[in-house]
Order: sequence, then structure tokens, then C-alpha cells
Amino acid sequence: MALRLYNTLTQQVEEFAPLRNNTAGIYTCGPTVYDYAHIGNFRTFTFYDLVRRWLRARGYVLDHVMNITDVEDKIIRNALAQKKKLDEYTAVYEKAFLDDSQLLRLERPERLARATEHIQEMAQAIQALTDKGFTYCSDGSIYFRIASFPDYGKLSHNDFSGMRAGARVDVDNYEKDDARDFVLWKAPKDGEPFWETPIGPGRPGWHIECSVMAIRYLGEIIDIHAGGVDLIFPHHENEIAQSVSLTGKPFVRHWLHAEFLLVDGQKMSKSLGNFYTLRDVLARGYAPEAVRYLLASVPYRKQLNFTFDGLKSAETAIERLRNFKARVDGEKFQPGTNEKFLERTAQSAHQFNSALDDDLNTAEALAAVFEYIREANIAMDSGEFRSENVDAARDLLERFDSIFDVLRPSAKRGSIPDEEIEALISKRVEAKKKRNFAESDRIRDQLAEQGIILEDTKDGTRWKRK
Ligand code: AMP
Ligand code: ZN
Repeated sequence: MALRLYNTLTQQVEEFAPLRNNTAGIYTCGPTVYDYAHIGNFRTFTFYDLVRRWLRARGYVLDHVMNITDVEDKIIRNALAQKKKLDEYTAVYEKAFLDDSQLLRLERPERLARATEHIQEMAQAIQALTDKGFTYCSDGSIYFRIASFPDYGKLSHNDFSGMRAGARVDVDNYEKDDARDFVLWKAPKDGEPFWETPIGPGRPGWHIECSVMAIRYLGEIIDIHAGGVDLIFPHHENEIAQSVSLTGKPFVRHWLHAEFLLVDGQKMSKSLGNFYTLRDVLARGYAPEAVRYLLASVPYRKQLNFTFDGLKSAETAIERLRNFKARVDGEKFQPGTNEKFLERTAQSAHQFNSALDDDLNTAEALAAVFEYIREANIAMDSGEFRSENVDAARDLLERFDSIFDVLRPSAKRGSIPDEEIEALISKRVEAKKKRNFAESDRIRDQLAEQGIILEDTKDGTRWKRK
């Protein structure tokens, strides 16, 4: 079965096939580097990672571009307040974003594109839009005239026909002819940074950034464009208006949007103050892979309510997976093959694949793996799981981990909470009692990786942090 993805534009689940050969051209809206990203942002970024990994598993070559928005009102305001140059200010948060992404095991896109490195190309695109009659000028700023683009609203399924041009509005202190019109180029204001370009001095609006960098690196028609649902309108709607007006071609073939991470039923956001950064969560002792697991475990089109209990469940789930892996790797099974169980394993692998092919249904994919683990543990306990069943079990775990990537413990030190250390030590004692030394060694190594040193004394096991 082919991979099927929900397309926001058509509101249908559609089979994915790239336009050019086997290469998937993907553009994802990246962070605005004005502060640390919160784990709500990382839900969307984790979703991008899942899209990448599953496309690769399905044999596609990836050509993925993500922008870094490093010029924007909040950035300018904060940099000015701290008397820093723009790039000096954004470097800190860009690095933090990349570090956090690495902790969450998010693969790096093939290209990261900084807005400030494409200003002249944006000015050129705005000039081209002006030449074609899609823009107007007001107080030195340049706007896109939505009335010149009849398809506006198709992505967000908004009907704008009732809205009339001519109702002048003042949004963000910019004069526009129509509430829907948006700024392509902002005239310099007192003390703010600006660029000299053939269309005059100023800086680009956010929307033109993405159109220009997407087309620059991926061509006029892009296979996949993704973001969080809050970007559907107006950001992506505006990207379509600009891009289609520029090229005369459809801009994107599959529009994918991830739902929100919520806190107590509300969107996690900077402005509501109900957010946690990855750093906040790790400081409480949670492992980054637990955050990754939690964010990945709910299908991307469903909202996900963040709780620390949810994170604890994610840790428990990861532990189950790791214990099972240790059992597969370390236990001695009776020789031979259990054909029926081989079939069962193949069936689970099939369920896992079908679930992800079905618009990345991660919850079902996980359910297939956990059901398999439950049955495999029973088969192992009863001796029905044989030595020649091991390879298939390993393959399934590998396939699982090539997408979810949680089996390897993070090396981050001191992040593991005391109770978890105690629990692992008790498990190790149990394992030793059963003379399962592979398991007891694995637990010791797992703790060592987290900087926890064990010392076996006649009074039991003592531990300390390195
Ligand atoms: P920003 O850095 O504000 O441009 O946001 C980066 C990405 O995070 C965008 O794709 C947003 O749609 C996404 N985003 C923001 N808040 C949330 C949230 N609470 N849950 C999921 N995604 C979010
Ligand atoms: Zn964008």
C-alpha cells in the first residue's frame, strides 16, 4: 500500500508521489529565533522529523529545506532592547534550537535557509510581483493586493467574498487598502535595521521569505509544505498568493499541518505563558527521548494535551521497549524456529507499516509494536519463542526505532531522577537473582551512560552521580 497523507488544500487523504523521480521536495516552516522554542513548537518539528523518516523508509530521497526566520518584529525589538546586533542576538537562539533539535533526535533538513541571507532575492521577487501588478506602495512599504488573487482562501477554506476592498485598516501601524492585504516589504523605522535594495531600503515581511526560499531551493512546484495549523491562515494562504502570482503554477502539491500541543485545553504558546521549553522539562529530570516519544505518539492531526503524567507514561513505554530489546538481544532461546510466531512477527511489521502509511498514524503503529511485545514476552516465557525467531524480532524493533528513535538512552548526565535510578537498581538485583547477567549488565551500562556509577557492597547496591 502506498503512503497516504491528508492534504489541507483538498481536505482529502491522498496518495503521495513526488513530482520528480524519487526525490521528495519538502519545505517546512522553521523557527523564529527570538527566544527558546517551547515543546509546542517541537511538536511540529517532531512531526517534520517523522515525515522525513517515513518517506525515507518508503524509499524516497529527501530534499528538505527549512527556514530560520532571523529578522522579524520581536527579534528587532529584543535585539534593540539588549543593544545587540541582529545576528548576534539570533545566533544564541538559533544554536539553542539546533541543540534542542539534536537532543530530540530531529534530523537536520538537507538545507537550513536563513531569511537574512536571501534579502536581495526577496527584493527581486517583490519587484517581479510589482511588475505583474500584484502590489501597491503605502508610506514606503509594499503590500500584496489580495483582490488581484481570486483563489485567496482556498487553503484555509475561508470565504472572503463578502469582504470588500477599500475598507482602509491600520494593522501593525501599516496602512492597507484591504484587511486581507499583507506586507511584502517594510519601510525602515527609526533605529531599526534595514537593507538597501533596488526596491528601496527596508526589510522583508515574513510571508515572502518562505515563498522565495522554497522556490529558490526546491523549484516552482513543491511536493510537501508543512507547518503547524496556526500557519494555514494567513501565512500559507499568503505564500500561495505570492508564489502562484510569481510563477503562474500551483505552488504545493501536499499541504500538511500539525495540530497543537495544548496545556489544560489551551494552545501552548509564549503569549499565554503556559509553555515549557525543552530545557525546563529536562531540568525536571526527564529524558529528551521521553519528550520525543510523547510528541510522536499522538497522530499529528489530533491535538495533544501536555501533562507530566503523559511524560511519565512515555518513560514507562520506552522502558518496556528497551527491556524487550534487552531480552531479544541477551536471552538464550531454545534452538529452532516457531513458524507461527514468525508469521505473527510479519503481521505486526505489516500493521506497523500500514499504520504509518495511513497518514502517519503513529498511535496505531505503536499499538502494533506493543501488542507484539506482549505476545512475544508470553512466547518467551513459555519457551515457544525460538532462537531463529530472534532476527525477525530484531528487524521489527529496528524498523520501529528507525522512525521513533527512542531505544538508545541519551548520554545526558544527571537528568535521570532518583526514583528511576532506584527502580532500575531493584530491577538489576532481581535480574542478578535470576542469574540473568546480560540484563543486570545492561542496566548497569544504561545507568553508566547517564553518569550513574554503581557500587555493589555487602549491604546492597550504592549509587552516585559522576
Ligand atoms: P514560530 O517559531 O513561532 O514561528 O513557530 C514554529 C512552529 O511551531 C510553527 O510551525 C508553529 O505552527 C508551531 N507551533 C507553535 N505553537 C505550537 C503548539 N502549541 N503546538 C504545535 N505547534 C506549534
Ligand atoms: Zn513559512
